[in-house]
Amino acid sequence: MNLKDKIREVPDFPKKGINFIDITTLLKDKEAIQYITGKIADEFRDKQISKVLGIEARGFILGGILAHELRAGFVPVRKKGKLPSDVISETYQLEYGTDTVEIHSDALSEEDVVLIHDDLLATGGTAQAVLNMIKQVGIKKVYFSFLCDLEFIQTPEKEILKQFDPHVLVK
Ligand code: IMP
Repeated sequence: MNLKDKIREVPDFPKKGINFIDITTLLKDKEAIQYITGKIADEFRDKQISKVLGIEARGFILGGILAHELRAGFVPVRKKGKLPSDVISETYQLEYGTDTVEIHSDALSEEDVVLIHDDLLATGGTAQAVLNMIKQVGIKKVYFSFLCDLEFIQTPEKEILKQFDPHVLVK
């Protein structure tokens, strides 16, 4: 299946000069969603994943389906101030300013084998922050899955993620 053809690129969104990768055109296709979730899940079925971490907001969509497919739990990674109970957090640098990711402090344990999923890898800053955050808990093992990787963006954060051999469907 040609997934690239099903993903829409929107010029100048959310601001001028940014070419936004819009996966809603892929998600609305019932055959495509079966295909991509099957493909990603097949990659991790033998890995004893106990929890899937989906990154807000688009990482929740396929992350939830993957948790179901892998018979794993689901943990939402949210932006600052959205989770109601005690959290652990990690603040990271953006081009202008900073952002913060959070999970509930009781979401993970040292026994967990975790799959971190997001729709898209651009600079790797978000994924790296999630990695740093879960290191505070000391889980057993971590894997990464991204639907898309903007491979033309190369950063030190992405170099670090390469150690984890992230699974990517669309490059
Ligand atoms: P990074 O931290 O620079 O790797 O950006 C990745 C995060 O920003 C992910 O959570 C993505 O959902 C979001 N993101 C960045 N660029 C795009 C895009 O073009 N389309 C959809 N999401 C994007």
